[in-house]
Order: sequence, then C-alpha cells, then structure tokens
Amino acid sequence: MLYFIETYGCQMNKAESAALERQLVEHGWKAAQDAGTADLVLINTCSVRITAENRAWGRINYYASLKRARPFYLMVTGCMAERLKADMRIRQPAVDYVLGNFQKQSFGLALDAMVQGKRLEVIEESPSYAFAPSHLEPGAFRSFLPIMHGCDNFCTYCIVPYVRGRETSRDPQAILGELDDLAAAGIREVTLLGQNVNSYRWSGGGADMNFPTLLETCARRVEGSSIRRLRFLSSHPKDLSDRTMDVLAAYPVFGKHIHLCAQHGSNRVLKAMNRRYTREYYLGLVQKLRSRIPDLSLSTDILIGFPGETEEDVELTLELMREVRFAYSFMYHFNPREGTPAAVMDGALPDAVKKERLARVIALQKTITRELMASLVGTEADVLVEGVSKKREGELLARSDLDMMVVFPGEPFLIGQFAKVRLDSLRGVTFKGTMVPGDHSAQ
Ligand code: SF4
Repeated sequence: MLYFIETYGCQMNKAESAALERQLVEHGWKAAQDAGTADLVLINTCSVRITAENRAWGRINYYASLKRARPFYLMVTGCMAERLKADMRIRQPAVDYVLGNFQKQSFGLALDAMVQGKRLEVIEESPSYAFAPSHLEPGAFRSFLPIMHGCDNFCTYCIVPYVRGRETSRDPQAILGELDDLAAAGIREVTLLGQNVNSYRWSGGGADMNFPTLLETCARRVEGSSIRRLRFLSSHPKDLSDRTMDVLAAYPVFGKHIHLCAQHGSNRVLKAMNRRYTREYYLGLVQKLRSRIPDLSLSTDILIGFPGETEEDVELTLELMREVRFAYSFMYHFNPREGTPAAVMDGALPDAVKKERLARVIALQKTITRELMASLVGTEADVLVEGVSKKREGELLARSDLDMMVVFPGEPFLIGQFAKVRLDSLRGVTFKGTMVPGDHSAQ
C-alpha cells in the first residue's frame, strides 16, 4: 500500500506528519512518488488563519474530484480536522477519515482497516495528547523533537488553545531517549518544539524539570555526539526566565539566534491581545539576552492592524523594531479568526488600512535586515549546509548560527555538515561566501 502526505502550517504539523509517516512505514506502507498512485492521501491541515483553511478545502475538494476516477482513501488530520471534526465529512463526503489532534491513537487501526478494505467506524478521542517519535528520511541531518503541546495563554487573536488544547509536557525520559536515537542516526541539528516551550514543566518519576533544566540536560546529553545545534520554538516572552537565558549563554550548542515573538510595540494593543507583557518588559528581556550573549541575533513575529490600533500604536511598533533591530520578522496583518475574542472586538480596521500599515512594517524590516547583513560582510560564520542552491549550479545553500542564509561554491557531499565560511558579499538577503579552506568539520 502506498501513501502520500501533504502538510500545511507550523513546525509542529511537520513533526506530526513525520510521526504519522513513521507509523505508516512500521505498518508496511511505502511512500508514493506522487498522489496519483497513492492508496491513501493524507492532508495534515492548519487552522491558524482562514486562508490556511480555505487552502486545505481547495486540496480536499481537488482530491475528492480525483476519487471519482480512481478509488483511494482520503484522510484529513491536524487543527482543521480538530476544529470541524464530523462536520467536515458532512461538507465533503469523499473524505474517509477525519482525525483530530487527540484522535491520532486510532491512526494505526484506521490503517489496518484500509488494508483489509474495511472502514474503521469509531475514532476514539484520547484525554491527553499522544507524543510520538518522528520518522527520519535516509540522509536526514535535522529533526524536530516535540517537548510540549498545547497552550494556556489564550492570546485573543489565536485559535491554537482551542484546537491544540491545554499545555501538556512530555516525559523527559522520552525526550532524552529520542535525542539519543537522533544522535545515533547522525543528526546534526535538533529543534525542540512546542507552542510555548518556556512553560515546559514535568514532575514525576523522581524527575522535576522546567525548561532551563531540560535545556541544560539536553545540552549535556549531546556533548560529543553528532548533534551540534539545538534550537527551540516557540518562545513566549512572559515565560522566558533569567535561568533559561543563563543556560543559553553557557552552552554554545544553542548558537546565537533566538526567535522571540513580540507581536506588537504598543502596551495598549499588547493588553488587548492578552499577551501579558509590556514593551518595556520585552525590551528588558532583549537587553538581558544581549548582555549574556553578545552578537545575539533576534527574530520575531509582528501582528499589525489589530482592532482599535491607532497610528500612534503603529509608530510604537516601528520604534520597537528600530530599537531591537530584528534580523528578520514574520509579519502579518490581523484577520479575524472565528471563535476567538478578537474576532468580535470593536474597532475593526478596513483591509486597506491594515495592508498599508503592514507594508510599512515590511519595508522597515527589509531595511534593518539589509543593514545588519551588510555589517557582517567580511566576517566568518559557522554554517550548516542544507542543500544545493536551486538558483546557481555548483553552489551550496547553508544556514549560519545567526540563522541567516549563505550560498557558497562547494560539493554536494558537504550537505548535512558544518563548515566555516567567509561572508564575501550580499545577494538580496543571502550572503555569498567562500569556504575557509581546511576548516570545515565534516565528522
Ligand atoms: S502563546 Fe498566544 S499566539 Fe502563541 S499559541 Fe498560545 S495563544 Fe496562540
């Protein structure tokens, strides 16, 4: 039996698709070259914005039309499946299975039923989220490692707490066991994942752990192994403790880049968003981080055009960006998400206003990114080679420890290895470099 998976949305969805793929392989299934030959097409969906759901519906309806010519199973998983559940099959009866985020323990049973040509009628819901180890493609050099799931923060614009549920932390023994497995497989970079990793907390079985103790334990565990970079996502500023910052500064394996979602620069808007910090608090965190980790590179998310946002609020956000000088930002304008408090707030702004404000935010970020990158030309960077450049033959594409893209001439055997590269010039927002001879660490 052959499977084909389409994944949309965040890194957690990618990790979950990899875990589902692992189960498929364990059940004897093989990856199809394309959807046209698959016995099962699985769409792992995102619900964070209505555009993501519209896109998923486009794919679902496309596959539903293909099913008229050739029979195959169509399964929908992820946050949209969690949000709509049975309604999804009423709206599109060609969907055979809808598995929400808490129903994945039925996945294996559904696969067995498909192999037998039957239908699994009852999809059980588990009371807590089931963490599962990821599948590694042959030759993989990076992996996600989920450490917690769900969110208790209820930012007023966000649907995540409704579709991912409350925060659940993963048993540290399972995390460390998976880390060992990844090291044994020769993995170079691991990203610890969760909706809010800073609130990781575990007690039980004689182990009391919070996020900094987990980070420190992981850093010690990978010493001397193939894993030379540990990253983490996502990080809520209100829960970033001094102890976490100390650990990040003490272990070079964490590199010199942190993604810390600011969302906005106005206290009035931050309050309406229920972010539970102020711009002063955020700027204080940045100062503390930079005093511990010189040359730290920061990235962020900016959400502009929130209901009731004024020109003054926009200016405060631009000022925050100028002050912090983020290396890059994920920038988007507010779109009401049905079922969240912000969707029914007064003061909704016209689309044209939101777009114009977003354009200003993007223009400023572009300028800052270019200036920051220009200041690094002539320096050397440690990079992890991620692949070959699609634009120019003979060039490799790599990511620096500051999370910036670098291309340089090199041989494909370096993919998945670390190298030292001199940053010679800038091409857009990518460095063009030269490998420092004899200094790449290809162990
Ligand atoms: S912290 Fe806020 S934005 Fe992030 S997942 Fe939780 S509710 Fe959503």
